[in-house]
Amino acid sequence: MTYEINETHDPNLKSWVESANDPNSDFPIQNLPFCMFWSDDDEDQPHLAVAIGDKLFDLYGAIGAGVFGERFEDIDLEDGVLDPTFIANFVGPTALSELRIAAMDALSDSADQRLQNAAAEHLVPASGADLEIPFTIGDYTDFYCSIYHATNVGSMFRPDNPLMPNYKYIPVGYHGRASSIVLSGTDIKRPHGQSRSGSEGPPAFGPSKNLDYEMELGFFVGKGNDLSTPIGIGDAEKHIFGVCLVNDWSARDVQGWEYQPLGPFLAKNFATSISPFVVTMEALAPFRTAAFERDTGDPQPLEYLSDEQNRKFGGLDINLEVYIQTEKMRSENIEPFRLSRSNTKDLYWTIGQMLTHHASNGCNLQVGDLLATGTVSGKEKDERGCLLELTWRGKDPIDLPSGEQRRFLEDGDEIIMKGFCEREGFRRIGLGECRGRIIPAN
Ligand code: MN
Repeated sequence: MTYEINETHDPNLKSWVESANDPNSDFPIQNLPFCMFWSDDDEDQPHLAVAIGDKLFDLYGAIGAGVFGERFEDIDLEDGVLDPTFIANFVGPTALSELRIAAMDALSDSADQRLQNAAAEHLVPASGADLEIPFTIGDYTDFYCSIYHATNVGSMFRPDNPLMPNYKYIPVGYHGRASSIVLSGTDIKRPHGQSRSGSEGPPAFGPSKNLDYEMELGFFVGKGNDLSTPIGIGDAEKHIFGVCLVNDWSARDVQGWEYQPLGPFLAKNFATSISPFVVTMEALAPFRTAAFERDTGDPQPLEYLSDEQNRKFGGLDINLEVYIQTEKMRSENIEPFRLSRSNTKDLYWTIGQMLTHHASNGCNLQVGDLLATGTVSGKEKDERGCLLELTWRGKDPIDLPSGEQRRFLEDGDEIIMKGFCEREGFRRIGLGECRGRIIPAN
């Protein structure tokens, strides 16, 4: 099961790739997240790889060259692009986990010299690598699972009654759009949209004035379900493959005008950025935690959303940080400034509950679908995961070390999101970064 701690989490494991042994590295041998990248020697297709220290280990190249011997000889490289979606669908969801263990064996400092030499042929520097979106994302769903975020946003509009009556019963979500999901590092063009400046008068169409980010955790479906066949809460974790960072860019002025009665639409589907590395649920096992502890007055989840395993281990202890660097900060060599730090353990619903609820009506999830938690905010002011909350709709601007102020994002601003897990007795692992810079509207 995905909660199990085994020898792959041993903090004493070391790699012969020296950079992976740096205690600050996001990608020690205990992590090995999957990614896709374009190799210099192959123009035809991106290659499947795992990140190790400051390198990528090219699994496609290594399998083709027979580095793993007879293991994986049933994976036919001629069959199609070797990506996680393909492997999970056509070789089986456990093949990815076997592949990761094989990579771990080859990259370990206890691997014999022959294996080390063979694997070393397939290492490339991660910096400057031309990365791709790791899964073929068919559908994207975004939830709203931070009660702190929902309460803050709700109280701006309904001070006396911030949470809707359904909030503590349903992991609330909406269907996003997969086609505009982009990889970290892609510039984000300020969108046009319809908005209204006051509460009366006609709306206008033009570049969004209140552009925002949302710090979220994304998770990929690694095993689908048939139409009309729900996924029980006890099986939810078997369907989740791994996680990434998500920035759900949001045009707040457009959102404010369009969201009633059907929810977000063009305010959010112009771009969503994701980090390139998929950290597996296996790597995350030491960082599982109890589900959110509800206030005594709160209802318990309905039966289909609750079981003992989920209550004990359904949560995730992942630290999330958001930084900003403006054009002026870059030109004056001022380091990115931290806007917030939050943690997924403060989410009201677990990722298992989100997935089970999504499929509870028989909706079929498919391998590669991306689900995201919604903005991850905590109780404290410096734990708010978007500018809407941090500046309270722009009323309380943030002072930056460059002497500038921000209510919402301006052209040239870059948002940098980071995620990492730490626990006494275990090796720190990270999710890498999710970056995006705002460029002017057309
Ligand atoms: Mn969102």
